This record gives sequence, structure tokens and C-alpha cells, in this order.
Amino acid sequence: MTRRRQIYEGKAKILYEGPEPGTIVQYFKDDATAGNGAKKGIITGKGVLNNRISEYLMLKIGEIGIPTHFIKRLNMREQLVKTVEIIPLEVVVRNIAAGSISKRLGIEEGTRLPRSIVEFYLKNDELNDPIVSEEHISAFDWATPQEMDEITAYTFRINDFLSGLFLGIGIQLVDFKLEFGRVWENDEMHVVLADEISPDNCRFWDVQSGEKLDKDRFRRDLGKVEEAYQEVARRLGIFPEMNSSETNTETSNGKGLESI
Ligand code: UDP
Repeated sequence: MTRRRQIYEGKAKILYEGPEPGTIVQYFKDDATAGNGAKKGIITGKGVLNNRISEYLMLKIGEIGIPTHFIKRLNMREQLVKTVEIIPLEVVVRNIAAGSISKRLGIEEGTRLPRSIVEFYLKNDELNDPIVSEEHISAFDWATPQEMDEITAYTFRINDFLSGLFLGIGIQLVDFKLEFGRVWENDEMHVVLADEISPDNCRFWDVQSGEKLDKDRFRRDLGKVEEAYQEVARRLGIFPEMNSSETNTETSNGKGLESI
């Protein structure tokens, strides 16, 4: 397979030009960062697992009628997606207090919130992704009020849907981060879910034990990081017979695993 032209390299993914106009290949790396790049590491097999987990969740979300950028998975580490213009916001939904809301507002981690809360952060590494209000978003034209209505409605639907899906496999969906993009189709612009949904950008707690099954294991040096990502995939029914040597397989140069 010929190497594709690289468009962008982020902290956890590389984007390549897709085979047709309007498409992009997302390559999932094993690199992990926390604290806006302050802490760096490798979570062996993470890219393979996140590719599969995100594929599974994007397809399920598509099935309930929410448009996504996902087209198809290409191989162990790559998926084909629609080219979108990323809306420069990180949309966080919270069901249970954890992480920054606990610190900022002094709410003990693990406290169930009175209702699900949506927050918006500006995607800007130099500024450390500051929290912003809808006033800032419309004043600076990062998204239109119509787009914000659509994003908020999609976000609550995704939260309800995923909360139920994960509860069914013994996992509490504590919080997660979404990104949206604009696509033009038939001369009309609309908002679609983009980026990825994986243990890198969700908090998952085991219902029984409260054990963390997400990137907080890396952020907080809790150990068993790979195992946590594998456990989420296993409970979703992905790779039921998986072991760590399989998730460690490199495929980017096409060694016969491209079709898996
Ligand atoms: N999150 C993310 N990317 C970010 C910041 C947060 O994916 O740059 C996710 C994070 O995994 C968690 C949720 O958004 O599921 C809320 O994160 P929080 O604001 O509590 O920040 P943190 O404690 O991770 O710094």
C-alpha cells in the first residue's frame, strides 16, 4: 500500500489524505498525553482498541439518526472518515462529578449531578482549552446559535443513548468529550459528530467496583492502563478472544493485516 500524504498529526491520531476527495484517513496511535501534553507515554495497543471502540460507537450513534463523519474502518489502526471543518469546541457532558468540575467547583468526585451538564471548551492548546460560554461562542462566531442548538440536542441524545448502552455492560458513563464538524452536502451545510469516542475521551467506571476503565488510569498513574482499554472493548463484544499481543500488532505498512 502506498503511503498517503499526511495532513495533520495530533496527540493521539494522524490524519492522511483519503482515497477520494472529501475523505480523510484517521490513523490511531498508541501515544498518550495528559495535562495538555505535560505527561507523555505509550499505551500499547491503544490505537487498535480505540479504532475499534470508536467504530462501534459511531456506528451505533449513526443508527439512532445522528450524522457522524465515520465511513468505514480500513484496518487495525485506520478508519475512513468524511472531511469536515472542525468546529473549534470540545463539548463535554457530565453525569457524575469528576476531574475538572470537581476541582473547579469543589464537588466531590463521584457525586451524581442533579442533571446532566454540557460544557464547552475552546480547542486551543496554547490557552489550555479554556471553558467558554455560549455568549463567547456566538460573539466570536466559533459556531452559530443554530449550530449550537443542534450540537446541544445531539449531545444530550448521545449521552442518553451511550449511558444506557454502557449501563447494560456494567459501566457508568461519568463524562465524555465530543467534537463536531461541518460538512457540505448538496450545497447545504450541516453538523456531524467527528473525532473519536473512546476511553481516551470518556470516563468509564465499573458499576460494581467503581474501578476506572479509562485514561484516568494513565493520567493518575493507577497502572493496568492497557487492561482497562481491553476490558471496555471486551464488554462491548469487540475482540472477545483478544490478548495483548494481538492489540500490539503494527499494520501501517501493510503486513497482511490490512483486511482485518
Ligand atoms: N477530555 C478530553 N480531552 C480534553 C479534556 C477532557 O477528551 O482535552 C475528556 C476527559 O477524558 C473526560 C471529560 O472530557 O472524560 C471531562 O474532562 P475534565 O474537564 O474533567 O478534564 P480532566 O480532568 O481530564 O483534565
